[in-house]
This record gives sequence, C-alpha cells and structure tokens, in this order.
Amino acid sequence: MKVLLVEDEPRLAEALAQLLRDGGWQADTAADGPSGLELARSGGYAAAVLDVMLPGLDGFRLCRTLREEGNSLPILMLTARSDLADKVAGLDCGADDYMTKPFAPEELMARLRALVRRQGEPPAQGLAFADLRLDPTTHALSRGEKSVQLSPKEFGLLRLLMAKGGAVCPKGAILEQLWNGAEDNNVEAYISFLRKKFFYLGSRASIATLRKVGYRLEDPEEGAASGK
Ligand code: CA
Repeated sequence: MKVLLVEDEPRLAEALAQLLRDGGWQADTAADGPSGLELARSGGYAAAVLDVMLPGLDGFRLCRTLREEGNSLPILMLTARSDLADKVAGLDCGADDYMTKPFAPEELMARLRALVRRQGEPPAQGLAFADLRLDPTTHALSRGEKSVQLSPKEFGLLRLLMAKGGAVCPKGAILEQLWNGAEDNNVEAYISFLRKKFFYLGSRASIATLRKVGYRLEDPEEGAASGK
C-alpha cells in the first residue's frame, strides 16, 4: 500500500519515508502544497500524511480542497504547533487524525494503520447503498426480493464504491486495487455492466462518472434529504 507524504522539510520527509518503507509501505513525497494536491487527486493512496506549514498551499487548505472535491482519502495532519486552535482548524478541514511534532515513530505508524483499517471496513450493517444490498459471500446483488449475480470484477468494483458511501472513489484507487494499476483497462465497461444490473433490479441508485476523477454512487433520495 502506498502513502502520500506532503512535507517540505527534506530531512523529515526522508525520515518519514524511511519509516513507512520499514513498515512495509510505499511512500510518495511532495515538498509543497500544490504538488501534494495533484498527487492526492491522482488517487491510488491508502492514506496521506500532511504537514500544516507548506509552501504554496497549507495542509489545512489542501485537506479542505480534497474534501470539497468529494475525496475521502484518510488524512493525518502533522504540525509543529500544538495549540488548540490549530487542532480545531485541523478537524474542521476534514482531516481524520492529528499529530503534533515531535512524535514517536511507532505512534505515527499505529495511527496510520488505524486510519487505513477504518477506511477499508465496510459499514457495520454490511454492504449496502440506497435500496441495494451486496452479499459478500455469494456476490449476489439484490433489491428487495430480486437479485442478480455479479462477476468477481463487478463485485470488487461495487464493493469499493459502496465502501465509499456516496463519496467519490478515485479511478486511481480502482485501478490499483482491481487492475494492478494497469493504464490499459476496461473499468468503464464494468461500470456500464453494473449500471445495467442496477436497471434490471429497478434500483433508484446510479453510478455517476466524474471525468478524470472517478466514480460515485448516487441515491436521489439521499440528495433530496440533504438538500444537495
Ligand atoms: Ca513545514
């Protein structure tokens, strides 16, 4: 699994990257806010570690921008400052966790593992979205009494989308997990197979394509309820 590190202090960035590699992760590093944002948007990361004070775009704004774009990448914020106002700003921007420098390497790794684990877990009530239920053992997709069998690829794809709730699943993450990162892929074809199955089941759910970003499940009733 790959972690994105956005840290402008070269020695700390290298130490963090080494720490991640020692823990069996891959690490990509960016030394300023804008390039960190670009990498985060490309998808394929299990989590990101963001420094707050960064050239170009600070960590809070970087994080808030991603959330506004519907990106639910687990984010751990790092800062040298430890006052309460910063912590509040960090949580407001949509970060998942917060650590102040200096920190113990083991604690950083433990928190990252917890973030990634949380992200990968399906909701407690099982895999479901709108009026659809996905059975993880039989790979059957059902709506009420009606059900249809999914192929392994369709199942993997829908599981990723459902795990995100209604948030965007970046195409990079889909490719990483289901197509081994292949450039040449047929994700769009599988999305259309799933759409046909939603239609066959008479589901109100749909899959929206966000060009060059990814895909997201949509529930018209949910949108109406929250006024989106
Ligand atoms: Ca910094």
